[in-house]
Amino acid sequence: MNDQYHFASDNTAGVCPEAWEALRKADSGFEPSYGADTHTETACRLFREFFETDCEVFFVFNGTAANSLALASLCQSYHSVIAHASAHVETDECGAPEFFSNGTKLLLGVGQNGKLDVASAEALVTKRKDIHYPRPRVLSVSQPTELGTCYTPGELSALSELALRYGLKIHMDGARFFLSLIHLGVSPSEVTWKVGVDVLCFGGTKSGLGFSEAVVFFDKNLAEEFDYRCKQSGQLASKMRYLSAPWTDWLGSGTYVKYAKNAIACARSLAAQASDIPGVELLYPVEANAVFLRLPPHIDARLQSCGWKYYRFIGDGTRFMCSWQTKEADVGRLIADMKSAQP
Ligand SMILES: *Cc1c(COP(=O)(O)O)cnc(C)c1O
Repeated sequence: MNDQYHFASDNTAGVCPEAWEALRKADSGFEPSYGADTHTETACRLFREFFETDCEVFFVFNGTAANSLALASLCQSYHSVIAHASAHVETDECGAPEFFSNGTKLLLGVGQNGKLDVASAEALVTKRKDIHYPRPRVLSVSQPTELGTCYTPGELSALSELALRYGLKIHMDGARFFLSLIHLGVSPSEVTWKVGVDVLCFGGTKSGLGFSEAVVFFDKNLAEEFDYRCKQSGQLASKMRYLSAPWTDWLGSGTYVKYAKNAIACARSLAAQASDIPGVELLYPVEANAVFLRLPPHIDARLQSCGWKYYRFIGDGTRFMCSWQTKEADVGRLIADMKSAQP
């Protein structure tokens, strides 16, 4: 066991106590399998209340499956999906979106701070109209982005207006969606279906659950036969109640609020304290739980020798990730080690 906090990813953290408790409660007696159980029914009802609309909800084991299967359900193999070049669907899913859609192509746009720029997306849509170009069908946005920033409702509306103009669907990769709600101080509907999102991949795992992501279809027509896709790809849980029950507590009791607030507060504190250290540069605004820093070599070397874990392969510089489990004291120790580095 390693007691030192890992800043590498929010999935190095464990499962929160409330999720364990929900699993324990679900673990009594017998229930119908494959999603016909009472826990799943309750969870789906709470999703509808949470989003204030009659959405269709499915649970899968991880985010790659959620994104890939959702995109596959929106596209034919000759279509294309427009996403930011740093998007997880492009950089970290091993080609799964292309694989599960039988070849749908990702077209990569740009934009500041990991957010897809409307003009860049439009250029990809209007570049060609001929039959030799994979037909644009979906705009995919990550909320928050891979660089830890959030699209505002206004920015989403602008993308939605573009999508309407060109007949595109909108997919949202919300692996850390809870954080964006807290950061923006908005209701779930304001950054989803009210701004044109057709399907949301809503992450539970990184937020503090163990192994559950919800695929939420706001356009129910698009959910047709999605259950078959889940089954065929090995993502239909037979004991579904264990995937759905933890959501019941999270949405029903609002447990996610305190944990999302904690992750964001720790990230902001880390960013503020690190920025005060000579030579350390904060690379992007902190609008979720990620802090990207450019570290001088002596500080980087010092943190390595102290055993701190963080990533270097996402964005520029180094990434420090906070989670539901980060404590202000963990941030304090990290900062103290940065300060103790000798040039
Ligand atoms: C982690 C993550 C996912 C899901 O990844 P899995 O490892 O497949 O669960 C999807 N999108 C984003 C932005 C992520 O950070």
